[in-house]
This record gives sequence, structure tokens and C-alpha cells, in this order.
Amino acid sequence: MYILVINCGSSSLKADVIDTINKKTVIELDAERLPLTPIIQINNESVAYNNKLELDAILLFCLEQIKQRLEGKIIEGIGHRVVHGGDYYSQPILIDAVVEQAIEELCALAPLHNPANLLGIRKAQEVFEGVHNIAVFDTAFHQTLPNRAKQYAIDKELIKKYNIKRYGFHGTSHKYIAERVGTYLKQDIKHLRIVSCHLGNGASACAIEFGRSIETSMGMTPMEGLVMGTRSGDIDAGIVSFLQNKENWSTQQTEDFLNKKSGLAGLSGLSNDMRDILQKASEGNEDARTAIQVFTHRLTKYIGAYAALMGGIDVLVFTGGIGENSVEIRNRVCQRLDFLGITLDDDKNKSTKLTNEKDVSNISDENARVKILAIKTDEQFAIALEAQKIVLEKNKVNCIPKIPIAISARHVHLCRETLDILYGKDYELTPYKPLSQPGQYAANETVTIIGPRNKIENVRILGPLRSKDQVEISKTDEFFLGVDAPVRESGNTAGSPGIIIEGKNGTTTIKEGVIVAWRHIHMHPTDAAIFGVQDQDVVSVDVDDKERPLTFKNVLIRVSDKFKLEMHIDTDEGNAAEIKTGEEGYLMKTEKVVSLNMKNV
Ligand code: ADP
Repeated sequence: MYILVINCGSSSLKADVIDTINKKTVIELDAERLPLTPIIQINNESVAYNNKLELDAILLFCLEQIKQRLEGKIIEGIGHRVVHGGDYYSQPILIDAVVEQAIEELCALAPLHNPANLLGIRKAQEVFEGVHNIAVFDTAFHQTLPNRAKQYAIDKELIKKYNIKRYGFHGTSHKYIAERVGTYLKQDIKHLRIVSCHLGNGASACAIEFGRSIETSMGMTPMEGLVMGTRSGDIDAGIVSFLQNKENWSTQQTEDFLNKKSGLAGLSGLSNDMRDILQKASEGNEDARTAIQVFTHRLTKYIGAYAALMGGIDVLVFTGGIGENSVEIRNRVCQRLDFLGITLDDDKNKSTKLTNEKDVSNISDENARVKILAIKTDEQFAIALEAQKIVLEKNKVNCIPKIPIAISARHVHLCRETLDILYGKDYELTPYKPLSQPGQYAANETVTIIGPRNKIENVRILGPLRSKDQVEISKTDEFFLGVDAPVRESGNTAGSPGIIIEGKNGTTTIKEGVIVAWRHIHMHPTDAAIFGVQDQDVVSVDVDDKERPLTFKNVLIRVSDKFKLEMHIDTDEGNAAEIKTGEEGYLMKTEKVVSLNMKNV
């Protein structure tokens, strides 16, 4: 399956077409310095851009370029990295108008990111019309953080007013890492306590306890936590106001200082790039050495803290550009963590070279209690996988046949003896119109049914004749007639009340046979196989095309090779659901509402 993954920022765009089956990027687009001095590369070749220097025009251009290079490949889904999902989203989600609106609302929490993410979504919808767009949120994985980890100790009214709390980021990567740990170690992550250290330009650590993120170092914004390329990470908030006063900084200047001029870049005064810093440190540069020490000290502190929170660690993971590549940083971080069972194997650490083919390396000492792994993260691929899951789910639902609904008006089925009495010996019913179930028909002939309270005329006889009489009425009819009819599946009349039936030629009292038909779906065994249900299962069915969603619960499945797919509800139900008699509505079965095997409901 080909998934287009879009990571759209305010000054850059990364858009990759990923072949998820072969785990290969088939088209790779990188655009930087947007919008004023765009540098666009596709598959590492520069592409000239001579149009408006505006973000949406450039995005449209880039996506069109991708479209032109598809060479027949069909994009089945578009996964968008969306930075902030707030409290709304703990999972990736198919984007519709409601989701778009939520992402827009959340711009308040991520003003640098969500607006650009949203623009990427809108341009993709324009260029790839009809393709599913899926939002994959950086924050989603951390929705499981317990309240005590989410809260800042500040005034609760303000917390409420502005939704100030710790959301955490890099969730797509941490989740991917946790799953990769599970597949690599062949262990269920529900039994593991993992500390994942994503050390790229942005850096965060995450405590993943039995599969759930329970702590992470980034907070309400990606500024909190570890030392990063250009971000300070944790800082005494007092320094912020101190500097604002002393330097007379505006909010923007303060933010630029913490976001763009701090971290490794600020400490070293050299670069935000760990490679440069390591190089300079090895040449004796003191500032570079300090930068490395602060970086690793902070990380070691977090690992220790997370071990304390989880009561120990089973797996420590290094990932991101620094975590995947830097032997020295991994070594420094682990150096004093022996007491936790974290013991590195120096040779394994040194010889580690991660590639797409060998994306995990176990660098822990054989006897170490904790597995130390270097894992190549791949956020683009992780987003593609998340998007693929949703596309597959959606396709699955779409390929399930919709179920036509028929309103089943009151009617009777008669046996030979009863028809003889009502219409005369050996009387043959005359078909009035065929019913949807093969071989069945509504007859021209009708009867009157007479209950203790009232009678109902013109009740149609359905053919062909059966071995037992059966009178199927609605709940309203039941009350009107004054009988107590059980809700039954057709054919199951034992113990049901009798009633008087009057025909053209005579009247009879049947001893039993009056039922309110259990709403049911007729289906052929082939349909049953597609739906994954069996005869006598009880399911719920969502009505697809109503303004207000409607669910019919407690629907009986009836399977026979004589049946055609159709759901039967009675007149009362049809009225309640605003489905008119004779009209056919369409139902969609969805997995979430099927409850199987409740045979004795
Ligand atoms: P981003 O957060 O932008 O995705 P990456 O995950 O690509 O960042 O990581 C970028 C960081 O990884 C840079 O600081 C870079 O110096 C560092 N890095 C890459 N290779 C090495 C290496 N061999 N040794 C040390 N650091 C490295």
C-alpha cells in the first residue's frame, strides 16, 4: 500500500510516498526555508520554484509535483503529522470536518505547529481529492499520563482556563519504539518497563510502563525537559522573568531565546549539531565539553527518575540522530547506571551501525538486568503505518455489504388446514407480489384478526403455506388487540397466545401463533461469512444514512441458503426510525457494535 506522509511545518515540508509493504520510501520531498527562500528537493534533486512566495502556493506546488511522479501508484491514504491533539485525541484519526475544527481550536496550544499542519491537510485534500486523510498526533501516546504527571503546580483556575498541562510530544516515535522493542525481544510490552530516549534535534525521554506512556520529559510545549539542539529544556522559570527584565525582552524575544538560541547551541556557542560539538570537545574545546556534560547529566537524571517511577527498568532505548549514532553519548549516559542494572557492552556499543535492514542493536552486557537497545526510529514510517491501519479498517467496513431494510407490516402465515377453513377446501392463494426472500410472496387474500379488545382487518396472508400458523404483529397491534405476544424469531411460536382469524369463508381460533417478530437479518451463508456471524447470533446495526446516528440493538441473524440479505423491522420500529413502510434504508454494520453469541437475549 502506498501512503503519503506529510509533515508540514511553518518553514519546512517533508512529504514522502511510502510503500508500507516493502518499508520503502519511493518518493521523498524535502522543502526548507519556506516561504521566502524555498529550497525544494525531490529524491535529492533540486526542483525550481518560480511562483508566489506564500506557504499555501508552495505546498500546492510540492504536492502536485509528487502527484506527477506517481507513475500509476495509487495513494490509498495520507498520514499527517499533527503536533497537538490536546485532550481530544489519544489515537490517530480519520480527518473529517469535526477533526479539522478540533485541530484548528488546538492552534491556541501549538501556535507554531498546528496551523501549518492544518494547511498541509487542506492542501492535500485539494490535490488528492477523495483520498482518506489521517491525523497522527505527537501528543496522542501520552494521553495515558496519570493526572499527577500531567499537572503543573499552578493555580487551578488558570489551568482550567487555558488547558495548561503537560501533553508531551514525540509520541509517534516513542510508541513506535515501544512496539519495536516488543517485536525485537519477542515479548509483550505489557510486561515491560521501557525508558525511551529520543535524542534528535528535539529530544525527549518517555517512561513506558507496560505499554503505556506514564511520564515524558516534554510538557505543555516541546520546550520542557532534556537539553536539545537549540532549546534549553528544564529551566528555572525565575530566569525567564529575570532575563526579560534585565534584557528588556519582548515575549517573542524570550521565546526565541529559549527555543532557538539555547540548548547545545547556547551552551557551546558553536553549533546545535551534536557531531560538531563532539568533534570540538575532542579537540579540547571546554564549552563543547560542558555542553555534552549538561546534555548527558540531564538525561541520566531523567532515566533515574523514570526508574524510580516505574520501580525499575527492563529496557533502555536510545533513538533519534544522537541516540542512534553516538557511541560516546550512549556510553556517558549509561556510565553510572550500573546500580539500576544498566550495563553497557563497550564493544557492542562501538560496533553498532544501524541501517534500515538492521534497525535494532542490543548493546547491553550479556549479564545486565536491563536490555539496552539502540533503535532506528522512523517517524514517517510510523505515521504511514498508523495511517494504513485506519485505511485498512475503513476499506474493511466499506467492502462489507450494506443491509437493505424492509419494514415488515403485520401479516399471517397459514397452514393448509387453517386456509381450508378460512377460504374453502384446497383453496389456492393467488400471489399479489413477490417478496424479497426468494419463493415468498404476499397473497391477494387477507384476513381479519380478532383479539379480546379489538380486531384488525385486511391483514395480508403471506405464501407459500407453512406447517404452522403464525400471526406477526407489532407492539402497537399487540396492545390494540389486547394480546400479550412474545418477541420471537419466526417459526418459534410455542407457548405464544392464540387468536381468532376470520377469512372470507369462515372463522377459526388458532391455539397459539401470535408473536411480535424479533427484528432480524436474513442472510445467505456467503453474507454470514463476510460479516463474520452465524445463524442465531445477535448483533447491533448502525444506520448509516440518517442525520442522527441510529443503532438497532439486539438484531437476530438468520442464515439460510434460501435467504437474501435483508433486515426486517416492524412498523413500530420503522416509524420510530423514520423509515417509511416500503422504503428501503441502508444499514452499515460496524465492528464496534456487533455483539455476538448472546443467544438467550
Ligand atoms: P530531528 O529531531 O531533526 O529529526 P535527528 O533525529 O535527525 O533530528 O537528529 C539530529 C541530531 O543527531 C543532530 O544533533 C546530529 O548532530 C545528531 N547526529 C547524527 N549523527 C550523529 C553521530 N554520528 N554522532 C553524534 N550525533 C549525531
